[in-house]
Amino acid sequence: MSAAMDPRTLLAAASYFVAATLFLLGLQRMASPVTARSGIRWAGAGMLIATAATFLLPGLHNLPLIVLALVIGTVAAWVSGKKVAITDMPQMVALYNGMGGGSAAAIGAVELLRLSGGPRDTSTTSLVLAVIGALIGAVSLSGSIIAWAKLDGRMDKRYTFPGQQAFNAIVFLAALALGAAAVWMIAIAPTSTPNDVRMIVLGFFVAALAVGVLMTLPIGGADMPVVISLYNAFTGLAVAFEGYVLHNEALIIAGTRVGAAGMLLTRLMAKAMNRPISGVLFGSFGGGGEAKEITGSQKPIEAGDVAALMGYAERVVIVPGYGMAVAQAQHKIWELTQKLMDRGVKVKFAIHPVAGRMPGHMNVLLAEAGVPYDLIADMDDINPEFKNTDVALVIGANDVVNPVAKTDPASPIYGMPILDVVDAKNVVVIKRGRGTGFAGIENALFYADNTRMLFGDGAEMAAALVSELKGLDGGGH
Ligand code: NDP
Repeated sequence: MSAAMDPRTLLAAASYFVAATLFLLGLQRMASPVTARSGIRWAGAGMLIATAATFLLPGLHNLPLIVLALVIGTVAAWVSGKKVAITDMPQMVALYNGMGGGSAAAIGAVELLRLSGGPRDTSTTSLVLAVIGALIGAVSLSGSIIAWAKLDGRMDKRYTFPGQQAFNAIVFLAALALGAAAVWMIAIAPTSTPNDVRMIVLGFFVAALAVGVLMTLPIGGADMPVVISLYNAFTGLAVAFEGYVLHNEALIIAGTRVGAAGMLLTRLMAKAMNRPISGVLFGSFGGGGEAKEITGSQKPIEAGDVAALMGYAERVVIVPGYGMAVAQAQHKIWELTQKLMDRGVKVKFAIHPVAGRMPGHMNVLLAEAGVPYDLIADMDDINPEFKNTDVALVIGANDVVNPVAKTDPASPIYGMPILDVVDAKNVVVIKRGRGTGFAGIENALFYADNTRMLFGDGAEMAAALVSELKGLDGGGH
């Protein structure tokens, strides 16, 4: 109580309130692409205030080490944030998210190790929360590192071995048992020696980190976005639990909010992908076995012919994917769209929920180029319209338009909802060559009778279409 009366503590509590309000308002602003940038700034200001206010708290030890850690973290984040390519953003987000989980786990570790040597001056509730927070945080840390390695192409997409589920369950149960043992030794049987407690705590963290690795190894393809979002929610929850342990309001509020937002996003993504969350974690897409062989050939087309096809069409749907982000072709694509609309062509954009490499990736790119929101349609709304579409222009999308997701039960993406581009009267696909998408599989769309391939870099091909379109006669159809 005396600490609560201390003016510095009061000021810290008031600053935490301001920071929490800024987090809330920032998050609200992130709901729309128009205000999202300022939302990030508001939340960032909140984080700055919360960090500074922590220095007001009484009993802060190791000040030089804290400042050193802050300097290292700030410089590393500043440099990596400045130089990261937009296409590498998801990896960075996965890594930073994992670090949040790791920090929460570290708080749990410090608390458990502090209590291992006594005085054992904490409530059992607080101890249990420290262990749960540490478990979730450690899973999020190691799981996010594996997700980062997969997104960065440093690791094969899916590792499976016989008996994997049972093995994972045993490791998870071991982590739970070791966590419970640590609580019991500290709170209920304080006769245990500090060394015994430390060994159990160490075993608990090894098992918890192993759970994250094992859980993420078999996940691949279309499940990756869902799992990244799930780890984001885990990190939030872990931070909230450790906030309770430290009696730190800022951590509790920020953690709860990230946890809740992450859970909602995870549910939305899983729903969009037609997958229960348990299916993501414990079962992979597709039935396994030999995938069907795709017959036929890829038929190339020239930019001039595509421009004519589109320029005289009535309805065109543009389907962007990860390759548009790589090529940074969104500006040229918008220019192309405007040229088509000037000719009276009705143009829409079709966005798949996991196109690109992060949730909302395509929406962000199109918003950056200035595409109005009313031209952008979600998968469920646009799918019935492909039948009446004269030309579907696919730019750098692959997995999200692959019909084998519907036709081949052995495919690793079988069951994933796709954009029904193949139903359009004519399909033109812009990509550089025969490269596969994230799932690493052949695409039956590229071999379909109504598909033509415009091989080349996304931005260069979009520019070529713009200039060819200028050369076409007056109005369209
Ligand atoms: P894909 O990754 O399936 O395919 C991208 C295609 O773009 C490639 O086939 C590539 O072919 C082409 N490409 C690459 N660079 C260029 C370029 N400069 N110009 C033109 N084309 C280019 O993309 P999709 O968006 O269709 O699918 C997203 C995939 O990523 C899904 O499997 C999804 O599950 C996964 N994923 C999504 C996440 C999310 O949150 N959205 C997160 C993690 C994974 P080529 O090399 O021949 O040019």
